[in-house]
Amino acid sequence: RAKQEGRNRFSFFSHDLESNIRERHQLETCLRNAIANDELLVHYQPKFDLATKHIVGAEALVRLVGPDGVFISPTEFIPLAEETGLIIKLGKQVLLKACAEAKHWLDMGQVIPVSVNVAVAQFSDPNLANLIEKALTDYQLPAELLELEITETALMIDAAEMQTKLSQLKSLGIKISIDDFGTGYSSLSYLKKFNVDVMKIDMSFVKDMLNNKHDYEIVKTIISLGKSMSLALIAEGVETEEQRLALLELECTMGQGYLLSRPLSADDFNAFLFANEN
Ligand code: C2E
Ligand code: MG
Ligand code: MG
Ligand code: MG
Repeated sequence: RAKQEGRNRFSFFSHDLESNIRERHQLETCLRNAIANDELLVHYQPKFDLATKHIVGAEALVRLVGPDGVFISPTEFIPLAEETGLIIKLGKQVLLKACAEAKHWLDMGQVIPVSVNVAVAQFSDPNLANLIEKALTDYQLPAELLELEITETALMIDAAEMQTKLSQLKSLGIKISIDDFGTGYSSLSYLKKFNVDVMKIDMSFVKDMLNNKHDYEIVKTIISLGKSMSLALIAEGVETEEQRLALLELECTMGQGYLLSRPLSADDFNAFLFANEN
């Protein structure tokens, strides 16, 4: 009987493992195909001036359409893209689409900087600076309208090397922001050495800043740190009017979040831009 149970238990786990492997394989195939056929979508989430609610920028966020037509979350397929090396091609496609779109806004008379998320593996690609330089030339996008977002955690993996890479990239005239700030245990002395422009306050702190004293203090501390380093500050995940006002009071000037808008398809972003008469 024990043997029987043991076998059943084994087959239960092995079935589970099998279906995990199958799901992972399906996701990888779906991602591979989307990249090969240039079918990844890029959505754009407005960044806004917390005082006026004017649009001051947009973040490009990749979207993968699953076999059932439903979007698969980037939090599911970005890690897979990083493990399989697909992130290099994915990153390139997102970058090119984002540059083309920002140039389109510019041609319509709207100066909206676009930011693109860059994974740590992309920084190890010796071709990254060339790729960016070529994209700016090909799309005739002024360098100051392109920003790269790198997570605080990624910065810290190899801080010394990243410092060199970032200076190289900055010499192209583009901007750099630290994404998800507050979650990565940055050493403050290193922070000073990175020549970054923008600090994005992680949404986990913004979410509870009005009902958790600690989170409020963390947001307050990040803002004063950013200000003391003359960085631009943007709060992520601003969902309520109360959060907007509290952030403004702490002298954070920019926000991003569902309060103003969710990420939008390129067409919807255009419509939103003109409806808001920026
Ligand atoms: P992130 O760069 O921190 O992007 C912000 C995420 O927060 C986005 O999720 C956005 O939709 C979501 N968000 C924005 N406002 C709110 C809000 O008010 N409330 C809540 N609850 N969420 C909000 P998304 O699009 O699912 O992307 C998740 C993460 O995937 C991104 O986090 C980024 O790390 C990664 N990612 C997305 N696109 C790319 C890409 O093209 N390349 C790379 N390397 N990573 C990407
Ligand atoms: Mg980001
Ligand atoms: Mg973030
Ligand atoms: Mg994030």
